[in-house]
Amino acid sequence: MIRFENVTKRYRGTAKPALSKVDFEVLRGEFIFLVGASGSGKSSCLHLILREETPSEGRVVVLGRDLRTLSSRKVPYFRRHIGAVFQDFRLLPNKTVFQNVAFTLQVIGSSRGFIQQAVPEVLALVGLAGKEKRFPHELSGGEQQRVAIARALANRPQVLLADEPTGNLDPATSVDIMQLLSRINAGGTTVVMATHEAGFVDQMQRRVIELRHGEMVRDERHGGYGDTSGIPSLAPEPERGAAAVAALTAVLELHREIVETGSVEPAVVDAAVAAAAEAAEPVFEEQAVVAADAAREEAAAALAEAAEHPASDHANDEADAAPAPPRTNTIPVVEAADIDVAELGLADRLGLGETDPDDEVGPTS
Ligand code: ADP
Ligand code: MG
Repeated sequence: MIRFENVTKRYRGTAKPALSKVDFEVLRGEFIFLVGASGSGKSSCLHLILREETPSEGRVVVLGRDLRTLSSRKVPYFRRHIGAVFQDFRLLPNKTVFQNVAFTLQVIGSSRGFIQQAVPEVLALVGLAGKEKRFPHELSGGEQQRVAIARALANRPQVLLADEPTGNLDPATSVDIMQLLSRINAGGTTVVMATHEAGFVDQMQRRVIELRHGEMVRDERHGGYGDTSGIPSLAPEPERGAAAVAALTAVLELHREIVETGSVEPAVVDAAVAAAAEAAEPVFEEQAVVAADAAREEAAAALAEAAEHPASDHANDEADAAPAPPRTNTIPVVEAADIDVAELGLADRLGLGETDPDDEVGPTS
């Protein structure tokens, strides 16, 4: 879902490239550490994924979009699928915890009903229930980073990028944040975390991509700085739950867009369909094709319906409170995974809520 193809990045006025022929692919549902000393190019990779920078050579493909050909007009929309957190939290100091998270959703035009529902949900997920009215300066560093993570997740992104998220935190708090990121990943969100802190990488035993002076010097499935044991494949183990949830998220995202705005750009439909299909592999390979077709039909039907009943009734509170859930009978991926879509809230989708031990769709760990 993120692919760097021989990417070289030269910043203007610099002699040495920040990245040289960097080549890797991140699969849906993976947790990746991007490690290396300061100046090795980690942040540059994240900027390229967010399309804040473009490669000097090579290609970056994210969520099925070749970022070279993505028009500037579509960049803000594309970025909605990607959450980002940073070392310095970047909270708005004069807004409360609730307002900080709500703000992002307001900016992208989410309905009031959605915001009222989504913000407390995501705050509870990161362990900040009850702190909605606090201001950033009334929180510890770890809590501030949780707010930033909540804000990044509020729009239910498929990818979470974290650039040195523990860089300003003490070791114990850093571990808490790492565990939170790990749980978020267990729920199906792909996580890419840049860090120069070797300790966490060793503990987490996740895939590690190491950069040195802009060159990729290591790509290991179960990492750790000193670990050089030969690892045959970078393919993730099939995690049925995570894949199904990720596929569902892609389709629900599409539906929400249609329900809230009454329209959707064809490119977005294509992206959601591709995402659903990609997410379903390799676990539901056959169903993926069916699911992709179903999602396309579903989108077409919703669009036709929206055209017949234009915008006016999208604004009222009832519509806000109860966005139409997708019709499960047309989404075989979901059926195969036995999910009750109507009851699937954000918590379930992220795999962070209370889970039924018999529910095979829940997080696997
Ligand atoms: P890291 O995040 O690993 O510390 P960066 O990606 O920030 O590394 O930086 C990689 C190299 O690119 C460094 O040499 C840095 O000075 C340079 N660099 C980063 N951003 C810019 C920029 N906007 N303009 C010029 N040089 C930059
Ligand atoms: Mg950096």
